[in-house]
Amino acid sequence: MDDRTVVVGAGVVGTTAAWVAARDHVADEVVLVDPDPGSGASWVAGGMLAPITEAWPGERPLLELGAASLRRWPAFADAVEQASGRPVGLRREGTLAVVVDSADREDLDRIVGHLQAWGRDAERLTGRETRRREPALGPAVRAGLAVPDDLAVDNRLLLAALRAAAERAGVVVRRESVVGVTESRGAVSGVELRSGERLGAERVVVAAGAWSASLHPALAGLVRPVKGEILRVRARAGSLPPPTRTVRASVAGRAVYAVPRDGGRLVLGATQYEAGFNADVTVGGVRDLLADAERVLPGIADYALEETAASFRPGTADNLPVLGALPGAPGGLLACFGHGRGGILLTALTADVVADLLAGRPVPAESAAASASRVATLEVSS
Ligand SMILES: Cc1cc2nc3c(=O)[nH]c(=O)nc-3n(C[C@H](O)[C@H](O)[C@H](O)COP(=O)(O)OP(=O)(O)OC[C@H]3O[C@@H](n4cnc5c(N)ncnc54)[C@H](O)[C@@H]3O)c2cc1C
Repeated sequence: MDDRTVVVGAGVVGTTAAWVAARDHVADEVVLVDPDPGSGASWVAGGMLAPITEAWPGERPLLELGAASLRRWPAFADAVEQASGRPVGLRREGTLAVVVDSADREDLDRIVGHLQAWGRDAERLTGRETRRREPALGPAVRAGLAVPDDLAVDNRLLLAALRAAAERAGVVVRRESVVGVTESRGAVSGVELRSGERLGAERVVVAAGAWSASLHPALAGLVRPVKGEILRVRARAGSLPPPTRTVRASVAGRAVYAVPRDGGRLVLGATQYEAGFNADVTVGGVRDLLADAERVLPGIADYALEETAASFRPGTADNLPVLGALPGAPGGLLACFGHGRGGILLTALTADVVADLLAGRPVPAESAAASASRVATLEVSS
């Protein structure tokens, strides 16, 4: 048997898993297989590391996972930068959550409630105070909340740095598609590639995001694509400068955010709907994002529209990732998918969980809600 670990999928999650596996010498060879590395949700994401402002009512376990991962992010970013020699673009300016409609003030109250329960910092602001902090905000903004602890990362720099760290640690990247995980006598034997080649392995980490469910019958129905669209815009000479903090707003009940990037750029996102694997960027999606973002940041009307993009959040029935050995799956198959709306945020915690799983150690207690052992109780979709 080959002393090889295969990781399927080279988004932030799979590339992190492969890097950790090679760094910790868990096998003679670590192979990362993806037909188009870094092209999935990880490429399209906004890059917010914002568990509190992202949490929805009733999602306490997700909030706790996110908070555990946020605490790890500064050290994780340092480790990736050191291992790769490349920046990941971590931003520490925090988030401003704002509302333009009196009815949406409840959103801010909900976030304040979460923050108080966590003993975390947040400051309620009037519309005027909010605009004083971020002059790019328009007169429609009625109230705001400053959340200084939130972080953000440049997801594309992160992908490049993770890939460099993985390759420096010895990971072999194969640009191929995996058709399925193969098994023999109750244990994985490797993966079958679209080319027909079989790649032997003692361990297979399935980290193909929203595409993971088809790779083995034990994964069927555990993860589904939740489509999201984003826009990338850039301030032009003479335009009003963009905000320095991440701005999140609720406009007519729709969530919209603007995440700053270097060079006067903003990522505006994101739509969310279930549309299978159709990756078209729709006219309605672009219209809503622009209209909502412009309501909050009127100056963007003058910006250059540089890019529109869509991808698929890997959604699970309980909105939590699935990490670890699955009941009923062959030995040596590790699930590492289902990071949903917060996979960039959850990558720092996932890195620690994967390192422990591969070493046969107990995983961090804070990651219990993501354990693959709960899968028997998860509702599956066909
Ligand atoms: C619009 C949008 C905005 C988002 N914003 C944020 C945000 O601000 N903050 C945050 O934390 N999260 C955000 N997310 C969520 C985050 O992007 C995802 O949770 C995360 O990127 C998932 O990473 P992944 O590596 O599991 O999947 P992906 O990045 O989708 O990677 C999966 C990889 O698997 C590969 N693959 C597929 N099939 C196969 C196969 N058969 N064989 C081999 N490889 C295969 C694909 O090519 C792809 O590269 C956002 C997502 C979207 C869509």
